[in-house]
Amino acid sequence: MTNHLYDALIGAQAQNTACFVKRSGQPDISFADFAAATAQMAHRLVEAGLKPGDRLVVQAAKSIEMVSLYLATVQAGGVFLPLNTAYKRDEVAYFTGDATPRIIVCDPKSEEMMQSITKGTDCTTLTLDAAGGGSLTAGLTALPTRFPTVPRAPDDLAALLYTSGTTGRSKGAMLTHDNLLSNAQSLRELWQITDADTLMHALPIFHTHGLFVAINSTLLAGACLDFMPGLDLDALFAAMPQATMLMGVPTFYTRLLSDDRLTAEATANMRLFISGSAPLLAETHEAFTARTGHHILERYGMTETNMNTSNPYDGDRRPGTVGLPLPGVEVRLTNPEDATELPVGEIGMIEVRGPNVFKGYWQMPEKTAEELRSDGFFITGDLGQFSADGYLSIVGRSKDLIITGGYNVYPKEIEDVLNDIPGVSESAVFGIPDADFGEAIIAAVVPEGTAEIDTSTLADEVSEKLARFKHPRRYELLTELPRNTMGKVQKNELRKTFGA
Ligand code: ATP
Ligand code: MG
Repeated sequence: MTNHLYDALIGAQAQNTACFVKRSGQPDISFADFAAATAQMAHRLVEAGLKPGDRLVVQAAKSIEMVSLYLATVQAGGVFLPLNTAYKRDEVAYFTGDATPRIIVCDPKSEEMMQSITKGTDCTTLTLDAAGGGSLTAGLTALPTRFPTVPRAPDDLAALLYTSGTTGRSKGAMLTHDNLLSNAQSLRELWQITDADTLMHALPIFHTHGLFVAINSTLLAGACLDFMPGLDLDALFAAMPQATMLMGVPTFYTRLLSDDRLTAEATANMRLFISGSAPLLAETHEAFTARTGHHILERYGMTETNMNTSNPYDGDRRPGTVGLPLPGVEVRLTNPEDATELPVGEIGMIEVRGPNVFKGYWQMPEKTAEELRSDGFFITGDLGQFSADGYLSIVGRSKDLIITGGYNVYPKEIEDVLNDIPGVSESAVFGIPDADFGEAIIAAVVPEGTAEIDTSTLADEVSEKLARFKHPRRYELLTELPRNTMGKVQKNELRKTFGA
């Protein structure tokens, strides 16, 4: 019997003595050592009561032990559920109430809180601190380094991952072994990841980007992770001469660009810079190329589907686009009103189908039925447009579409005009309720550095470029846009702040 995901990611590497994990100031960990530590952890989880199909929740600082915990859960037939470390008591109580885990792993500081949340249930709490210590790992090395892997079929659940909650309450996406494995296989091939690669890993591991995109593809390829606690530019520049890849959210790239150390020389050993989770401004892409000679590869995905599209490895990596559908993934654009497919060039709702698409939302059959069509297409909630040669551009989220005076206004069109104005660093356009027009357009604009911006200059420029119904009613100058940990702009927050 086989365990679809575990066998491919770890089973295949169990004898490999090459380096899997590098960490500053600590000894390297080989694939074989990592597999052994994972088996020991699987024993610990079974001791603590984990049965096949049980959920394991973890809210803990990023550590390599947490990566082992993910794979140990899969090896023991469980369902891995990492939570954003920013979540507070009420949020954690919502997720654990919804997912009813058998085990919770948390920082020692939140042990009491977790125990009080799960009081009266059969959930066991174990601890894991940032250094890898705690009751999860105490005495672990005394346990056997082999574990009888629990059989799991391609369609069994491997993870329950909650969406970021950008547009509303987070939903638990049920991801199967094959959802994760098929996507990792596509990405490894597409991005040509091999055992000669070293990926600088500076993303959080409670989100699909840092967890699945980064770790699954690295394991599958037998590549090496330079594992960092978070984004630290000094650490990144120190690691870069020995590294070949970086996966980041767009803020990684704007932060790198703001540092004088970013040069062609500093990035000479690098093979690939990848961006995703939020839109990368074409300007950022172009500025990065001008400074380093590297073309950032932008891709598009989400919790429910893993990755859907990617710019090509060989070929044109087009700024402002998310590239072409991955092999085996179908992407179509439909009219949100009647679900009919739209001709190339028109803006429509992005729908995707493929082995990457999740099984449904955890305990939300109605929501699942609303967003997963009977023919297998998932309605992403994003609006997009195809170029004649098949490149997809994300125009925004359907929930952010502004309907004013009966006209559809896509915020991105206005944001693009604003972002091109000298002195503007970035912008976010959103709608607020309006008695006459249904919605009124508001633009939040962040000036570049110390640039002085006159809002009448913004209004003049927009008037020159766009039809009157697209003109923002008000401009708000901000020092920064509200973003979550994945660099996503929180338009909900902006609507709350400026909606009154
Ligand atoms: P929620 O579904 O709870 O509102 P969320 O959609 O932000 O939250 P995630 O699954 O983390 O949660 O994010 C997926 C979304 O991120 C996509 O639907 C898309 O809007 C956005 N996204 C991802 N990659 C890109 C990209 N390259 N360009 C633009 N947007 C992107
Ligand atoms: Mg979403």
